[in-house]
Amino acid sequence: MLVSAKEMLEKAKAGHYAVGQFNINNLEWTKSILAAAQEMNSPVILGVSEGAGKYMTGFKTVVGMVNGMLEEMKITVPVALQLDHGSYEGCMKCIEAGFSSIMYDGSHSPIDENVANTTELVKICAEKGMSLEAEVGAIGGEEDGVVGKGECADPEECKRIADLGVTMLAAGIGNIHGKYPANWEGLSFETLDAIQKLTGDMPLVLHGGTGIPDDMIKKAISLGVAKINVNTECQIAFAEATRKYIEEGKDLQGKGFDPRKLLAPGAAAIKATVIEKIELFGSKDKA
Ligand SMILES: [Zn+2]
Repeated sequence: MLVSAKEMLEKAKAGHYAVGQFNINNLEWTKSILAAAQEMNSPVILGVSEGAGKYMTGFKTVVGMVNGMLEEMKITVPVALQLDHGSYEGCMKCIEAGFSSIMYDGSHSPIDENVANTTELVKICAEKGMSLEAEVGAIGGEEDGVVGKGECADPEECKRIADLGVTMLAAGIGNIHGKYPANWEGLSFETLDAIQKLTGDMPLVLHGGTGIPDDMIKKAISLGVAKINVNTECQIAFAEATRKYIEEGKDLQGKGFDPRKLLAPGAAAIKATVIEKIELFGSKDKA
């Protein structure tokens, strides 16, 4: 059964480790991530962007697939299914579809509007026993063109949103989505430290986990990051393994064109990536 991310993140914050959120795109992604978490005896959060939800034909399909897998794969570790960077409307759809967690991304709106929408969602999530992630300070990414440094959130605004009663808080600390540019200046630990001092026990979320050096990840965890989002890295691992299979001509040998064979190396690569991240984040055996 899907669970709220609240308990797993409170434990992570108190225990100084982080739970990974791995975004899913289809059956292979979901199966690989769940298998990795179960093997590592780690809690896990499955992230679904609005685009990925549409791709999978809708949020109800996602809920049906994930719930089916939890049962058929006999998954016993805590699993949360979370909307990633949701609009207010998207959040409502996921609440109705049976997600156990949502992220409302009001970071592009004026802070007062972000506060108003987050307040409304805090109420609804509390009634439903769901967890809620809010965001302050937009997280940069390749869609913004050339990015040298991601945005840094205002710690006072972080406190304002944290005090509304959200479960977890994403704050920009120079992190960005997608691949990091060569001239990236690194994470702003001063910002992170200031945010943690003002928000206390609130589990903080680090987006754009792909390509942040391991030592920076560890330092971020020591400064209160309890959830790390990984998306691009699984995509790259999947694409590389699939390309290798095709370049080696394996799809032309025997029944190598069978999708269950063709997609197997990519799926195995996702699983290996997730296992590596769980080890790095320290959530192994924390189920
Ligand atoms: Zn993100």
